Amino acid sequence: MKEIILLKDGEIVLKGLNRRSFEDVLKKNIKFALSPLGRFEITSAQSTIYVKPLSENIDLDEACERISRVFGIVAYSRAAVCEEKTLESVLQTAPAYLEKTLKSAKTFKVEAKRSDKRFPYKSPEICRELGGVILEKFPHLMVDVHNPEVTVYVEIRDFGAYIHCDPEKGAGGIPVGTGGRAAILISGGIDSPVAAYMMAKRGIKLTAVHFASPPYTSRRAEEKVVKLLQKVSRYAGRMTMYTVPFTKIQEKIKDDCPEELFTIIMRRLMMEISEKIALDNDCSALITGESLGQVASQTIGALGCTDEATDMVVFRPLIGMDKQEIIDISYKIDTYETSIEPYEDCCTVFTPKHPRTRPVLKYVKEAQEKAGFAPLVDEALQNLKITYISADD
Ligand code: ATP
Ligand code: MG
Repeated sequence: MKEIILLKDGEIVLKGLNRRSFEDVLKKNIKFALSPLGRFEITSAQSTIYVKPLSENIDLDEACERISRVFGIVAYSRAAVCEEKTLESVLQTAPAYLEKTLKSAKTFKVEAKRSDKRFPYKSPEICRELGGVILEKFPHLMVDVHNPEVTVYVEIRDFGAYIHCDPEKGAGGIPVGTGGRAAILISGGIDSPVAAYMMAKRGIKLTAVHFASPPYTSRRAEEKVVKLLQKVSRYAGRMTMYTVPFTKIQEKIKDDCPEELFTIIMRRLMMEISEKIALDNDCSALITGESLGQVASQTIGALGCTDEATDMVVFRPLIGMDKQEIIDISYKIDTYETSIEPYEDCCTVFTPKHPRTRPVLKYVKEAQEKAGFAPLVDEALQNLKITYISADD
């Protein structure tokens, strides 16, 4: 039996005249996500996207799994394609296709949608006829129109007739690439991969920036970041990761700045460097995994000092979230287990015993200027390491 995947697109519907271009990006993203599985034809009509497998033996379970991670889709259903667009074909296809599901259920109902008005039976007639056939073939079943265990959907559309059960929930959001570009400051922790995921969900295409301070931080720590980004790119698509050699800068902070300002000055330099990388990559915002009050560098005062180091908009999608809420998302996107692997981050190198929770910008800037980081910042920018990240590597 031929199968197809029907997708319902989400907020795209709200975008008026831009709808076409949103849908084009979404289709491109779907095609990319499915490309390792074989060839598909992807078309759209009547606010539905049709994903039709063209190659033989395509793993449709895997295809659905991948589709569940594409932003811009509210719901999707794996459906049988009736051989002909006739009532007879519907009556034959539905019980055969859904045999297993119907056998194990107790109650059901049929819901028919006829968007091709030339089809000679109206929706209530289709429901009645198919309901009758199902009851005959599965005598243990009962009809329950209010709270059925299984709903059998029949869709009569312009290009064919389709049968499916309840749709699965899609990833929601808007298609990656329709919201511009931003640079995510990614550590090996729990928070920043979640922040990356959340902004990709709002349509942002990501570039990643990671600060490494060998030998204080190890190769393994960097590999962990690559692994995290691969997980994120299952949702966010391909991205480029820039690794910034940060050792000399951190050593200079330690040698030449007041201890209680180590962290805040480090964070300001991270912003400054990230902004430059962002500009070179057409990004118009920075993203961090900061959450208000989580640590000393994430108080209102500290965040204000950090922000002042860049002219770019800084997105902090986790700002109002509790740690547990962030962890729940990291489980969902499968980054948690990797995030808790015990490798050091540059943030834990030279941490002050008593960081300032209420830094005064004027003094922070003075201390930073007195130390003078410009030459080291330039040197770091000239020695970036580039890694290309893809979910299927
Ligand atoms: P995370 O779990 O994301 O590491 P955190 O709660 O440990 O966050 P911090 O270590 O203070 O908090 O870092 C705050 C944010 O700064 C991170 O979410 C991330 O966006 C950025 N950041 C921290 N360390 C690095 C790094 N080595 N490279 C790039 N960005 C970093
Ligand atoms: Mg961290």
